Amino acid sequence: VTTVGVLPPDVRYVDAHCHIDLFADPTATMRSAREQAIAIVAMTNTPSVFRRMEQLACEFDNVFCALGLHPELVAERHRELPLFNELAAETAFIGEIGMDGAKGRAELPRQRRALDEMLAACRPGRKHILSVHSRRASADILEAIAPGFPGIVILHWFSGSLAQAQVAAERGWFFSVNLAMTRSQSGKTLISRLPRDRVLTESDGPILLSEGRRGGPADVVSVVEYLGAAWGVGREEAREQVLHNFERCLRASHASAP
Ligand SMILES: [Zn+2]
Repeated sequence: VTTVGVLPPDVRYVDAHCHIDLFADPTATMRSAREQAIAIVAMTNTPSVFRRMEQLACEFDNVFCALGLHPELVAERHRELPLFNELAAETAFIGEIGMDGAKGRAELPRQRRALDEMLAACRPGRKHILSVHSRRASADILEAIAPGFPGIVILHWFSGSLAQAQVAAERGWFFSVNLAMTRSQSGKTLISRLPRDRVLTESDGPILLSEGRRGGPADVVSVVEYLGAAWGVGREEAREQVLHNFERCLRASHASAP
C-alpha cells in the first residue's frame, strides 16, 4: 500500500474509485486486480475504517487508500470529522466525499458544512487527490469547491448537466467514468463531450450493476474499450491516455508533497 502515489511500472489500467473494503473478499479482489495490472484508489466511507483499509492493502503496491466520509453517512458519522482532520495529513488520497441530494435537499446544509471542514483539512502542505460524489448536487459541489482549490478534483460518476461538466473541466477537474455511464444515453453524451485529457476510469465496485452482477476493478478494461471506440482511437491508445491522465494527477500531487 502506498499513500504518496507511486505507480508500479507495469500498471496498465486505473480504477480511480472502488470500495475494496466492501467486497466479500477484499484481498482476492486486490490480488486479481494486481494480476490484471490495475491500480486502484480504494475509497473509504468513514474515517474510522481508513486504518483497516490500509492494513488490508499493505501488501499491494497497486492500491492507494483514500480517506473519506461519504455524504450519505455525514448525518450519522459527523463526529468522526476530527479523525478525518488528523488523518488527512497522512494520505494524498481523499474519498469518498461530496454531497448527495437524491433524498431531498434537507441534508445538504449539514453535508456542506462537513465538506467545507474536510476541504479545509486538505489544504496544509500537499495537493490531495479527491474523489468527489455529486449526485443531484452538482451545482452545490461547484460552489463548495471553489475555483483555485489547491487539490486535484476527480468527479466520480458525474451526472450533472453538460454545462456544469464544462465549468468543471475549465477548472482543470477530472472525471472518472464507469461501466454504467457507458450504457446510459446521458452518460454516453457526457463522455463524448469531456476533454480526453481529463478522463479516468472507475468501477465503483462492488455496487450492483443493472444486469445483476456486482462491479469490480476488471470493469475498467471494458470502460477503456468503450472509450477507444467513442474516441475513434482504439483500445490501446485509450488505455494509454487514461493511464497518462492518472499519472498527471499523481505528479501534480507529488510536486506539492512536503
Ligand atoms: Zn462510491
